[in-house]
Amino acid sequence: MEYQKTIAKKIVLEGEGIFSGKNIKVEIEPAKENSGINFIRGDLPEKPVIPLKIENVIGLDGATAVTDGKHFIYLVEHILSALHGLQIDNANIYVYGEEIPIFDGSAYPWVKKIQEVGYKLLFYPKKKLYLRKSFQYQNGTGKISFKPSNTLKIKASIYFEHFLIGHQSLEINITPRSYIQEVSFARTFGFKDILFERRNKGILKGGNLSNAIILDKDSILNPEGLRISDEFVRHKILDIIGDIFTLGQPLVAEIEAIYSNHRLHIEALKNIYKTGLLEEVESRALTFLLISKKFKRTE
Ligand SMILES: [Zn+2]
Repeated sequence: MEYQKTIAKKIVLEGEGIFSGKNIKVEIEPAKENSGINFIRGDLPEKPVIPLKIENVIGLDGATAVTDGKHFIYLVEHILSALHGLQIDNANIYVYGEEIPIFDGSAYPWVKKIQEVGYKLLFYPKKKLYLRKSFQYQNGTGKISFKPSNTLKIKASIYFEHFLIGHQSLEINITPRSYIQEVSFARTFGFKDILFERRNKGILKGGNLSNAIILDKDSILNPEGLRISDEFVRHKILDIIGDIFTLGQPLVAEIEAIYSNHRLHIEALKNIYKTGLLEEVESRALTFLLISKKFKRTE
């Protein structure tokens, strides 16, 4: 049987928020079985709790946010990607501000901290979401499809009219190992002109070359360059792993995303949820299901 996990000890990280430019502290605390992921605005006197579930999620143009209708926490996708990638089921995330710090623009700072403290098994069966049938969702040029599967497999394709990006496509079977080695370190990216425009409008108060890959017309401005030649499409997979965790539980499916973004991911997930295509399966029940299927085949 596969058991639920939480982290073994509290994690504290502090860093700059890309939208506010403020220094924000985040504490991830271990949580008990079946409690899921909960965000808490630790900076507010009433400490509002925002449970991670699709009704509480908004997909924006450049980020994913959670809200209880009154309070918000922006840029939750990279911390959620790390927790999902490392298969953490339960955790309380105290955020002392309105957004999760950006750090280097990847999920690796979270992964490193979680690896340092380790995880704790809770001896309750792990719950996962499976698809009853295939689902496809389109929005403008972006498209995402979900097929029933027994493992999480993600294929992403991106296209940017820039000679350093162009078309990139990659498929990865997601396990904690492949997540750490092939996905977690990939940084988000942006274009210098757009960043300046947003900064002038006051939307992006933080952010510099240490938070993202920044491109101008003919080069990458970061002196260290790329971490891997297809870092851009790997970050797309990182974002998808974070966004699909907004269902509150790990989703097991074969996913193909073409020119997708946060808004598309969240709209698609809300539709999947609304149309009743998800089935929650406990690890014990799944084991039984697989055994009984095998047994039938050999009869
Ligand atoms: Zn991202």
